Amino acid sequence: MKHSQTHSFACSPIGYNVGMTNPNRIAREKTRSVKIGDLIVGGGAPVVVQSMLNTKPDDLLGAREQVEALAEAGCRIARIAVPSKIALECFALTARRSPIPIVADIHFDYKLAIAAVEAGAAAIRINPGNIGGFDKVDQVIEACRAAEVPIRIGVNAGSLDPEVAAEAGLSAAEQLAASAIQYVEYFEAHDFEQIVVSAKAHDVATTVTTYRLLAERIPEVPLHLGVTEAGGLRQGTIKSACAIGALLLDGIGDTIRVSLTADPLREVEVGYDILRACGLYRAGVEIVSCPTCGRTQVDLERIATEVERRLASIKRPLSVAVMGCVVNGPGEAAGANIGAACGRGSAQIFVDGEVRYSVPEEKIADALLAEAEQYPGVDGSPAA
Ligand code: SF4
Repeated sequence: MKHSQTHSFACSPIGYNVGMTNPNRIAREKTRSVKIGDLIVGGGAPVVVQSMLNTKPDDLLGAREQVEALAEAGCRIARIAVPSKIALECFALTARRSPIPIVADIHFDYKLAIAAVEAGAAAIRINPGNIGGFDKVDQVIEACRAAEVPIRIGVNAGSLDPEVAAEAGLSAAEQLAASAIQYVEYFEAHDFEQIVVSAKAHDVATTVTTYRLLAERIPEVPLHLGVTEAGGLRQGTIKSACAIGALLLDGIGDTIRVSLTADPLREVEVGYDILRACGLYRAGVEIVSCPTCGRTQVDLERIATEVERRLASIKRPLSVAVMGCVVNGPGEAAGANIGAACGRGSAQIFVDGEVRYSVPEEKIADALLAEAEQYPGVDGSPAA
């Protein structure tokens, strides 16, 4: 492999709970293992969060800085668009010094794809339908085979194979899936199985249906999940969480990219938040807080916000309940590692399911912070 550097992540996979003791854990589909740099995608490996640079193609300094920042944020694969020869030079220099595998994103020009492989791409992403014909696809396959570089077959609703798109009676999801599957069959017929597949739409339901079809029809192929052109931070987060979350909870998906019209660092944060919400990643503090209602007799919003802010730097898995009253408060507080069940101007503080003491309202956040700092941690090792 061309990429063989050792990675260091500020947010390395601390506390993945895949396959561990949670009885509600997701039974994930087992796909083939694909090696991207020194990272495994598929084969039951933890779901990989990836992103894509948005720097200019000739901005070497900007690209290097963004790759470093993404790696620091826990991004495990970064993709770079390579639309020209100048971009290729920048790509090569960025990939050489990158702490994480760099994938070349190529459209239209098979020579650029081959050159990116030679320049040190850990993988390439192509849409076989727009690379200039299957004779060109063959040349890309042979270059990747020789360099042991995997290929992501990336199909998008906006650039469907014209023949598939013209087929009567197929839904948008069926068209996307059919397009991706025909390429997979082509690659496999050429004895090239180091492939990952994506088939994205901007629409949540189409995306989910497409990937479910792919998981059914090509269950052995690792899937890269994402909603394409999902929008800005708020809308893109919600659409991505719905689609990626639904699929992950089905056991589908080996790597995810949250596409946002925003700083790529936000994509990584949202990616981990989705994994965390699906129970596929455990790191940092999960706040369990109620929405408040007429029974709330403390300023719960202020307390929960302060607790969340002050515990944000904790990396080990920890659940902290901040609950408004006796209806659900004691139960949730007892179920979390640490909890506060509030009453009239005070709270009972729970640790490991037991009431330890009571504090007045103004001391609730301090008490939870103190308990969190003392709570036995498992930094750097999987959580049970
Ligand atoms: S826990 Fe109590 S205060 Fe909070 S929303 Fe439920 S009933 Fe209302």
